[in-house]
Amino acid sequence: MLKTEKGLVRQSPRGLRFDYLLKTENAQGCKFYKTQCDHCNIPDIGRGTPPQENIMGLVRAIASIDVNDLRMIKQADLYCTGNVLDKDEVGNNTFEVATRLFISVFSNLSHIGVDTRPEIALTETGTERLLEIKGHHYVEPIIGYETHNDHLRTSKNGLHKTITREHMEAIFRLVRDCGLGLQVNVMLMPVPTMELREAVEEAINTITYLAKMSERFRRTEPQPVLINLHPLYVTQKMVAKWGEEILRRPLPGDAEIDEVVARCKDILPIFVGRYDEGLGIRKAYTDD
Ligand code: SF4
Repeated sequence: MLKTEKGLVRQSPRGLRFDYLLKTENAQGCKFYKTQCDHCNIPDIGRGTPPQENIMGLVRAIASIDVNDLRMIKQADLYCTGNVLDKDEVGNNTFEVATRLFISVFSNLSHIGVDTRPEIALTETGTERLLEIKGHHYVEPIIGYETHNDHLRTSKNGLHKTITREHMEAIFRLVRDCGLGLQVNVMLMPVPTMELREAVEEAINTITYLAKMSERFRRTEPQPVLINLHPLYVTQKMVAKWGEEILRRPLPGDAEIDEVVARCKDILPIFVGRYDEGLGIRKAYTDD
């Protein structure tokens, strides 16, 4: 893994991939954080960032990429400490400059991913923003569905997100009808109170469901969903939520990741992301 200033260049099933974390320009931080996702430390990484500073951070990250890698990058993704499709969090100018930069600098780019939630992507303004950059590149929302287990995904004892199965159906329909791509984040161990075996089977169950949805909403042009498989890392807020006990529990490592990839790689392409945004307080796996 090559780490540039706040950007990452890594290998993925589509070739080299560049991921960049924008900061939310909304002074209140991520809108969902006030009522949901109470385990998430990401909104604490800067809020109310001025647009100019946000853009300059991206410019510096791109400038630090090895010149040979620039031509090899096939996929560029915008993440945010909030949501990329939310106009209060990433202003119109920042979004336009960022996506234009990607298109002009990465000469072999085929995919542009934007981190969002169905609750935003499915609104008129969210969809409009996705379609703004649709051209000869596949534009794709990146959705943090994380687990097909409704209780783990939505309950207060779980991830506490309001993303429903109906949202996912609507997202699959949207990407089919608009000719977009799709990335879905899957957590290998959505909550730190799970057993390793349970976590592996749950990740496989989630990927199997996404493969079925991908088949059900298949386009004439084959454009399979890309799975972003993320093993859990423990953050300070998780300890506050689930207690210090979780620091002593086993976390998924290479063996669990390898098993999920081996059992699912023939049904959907899988990118394994092992990056903790510097927020992990205990590492049971090492970044490569
Ligand atoms: S998981 Fe995403 S939507 Fe939820 S608080 Fe964190 S950044 Fe916001």
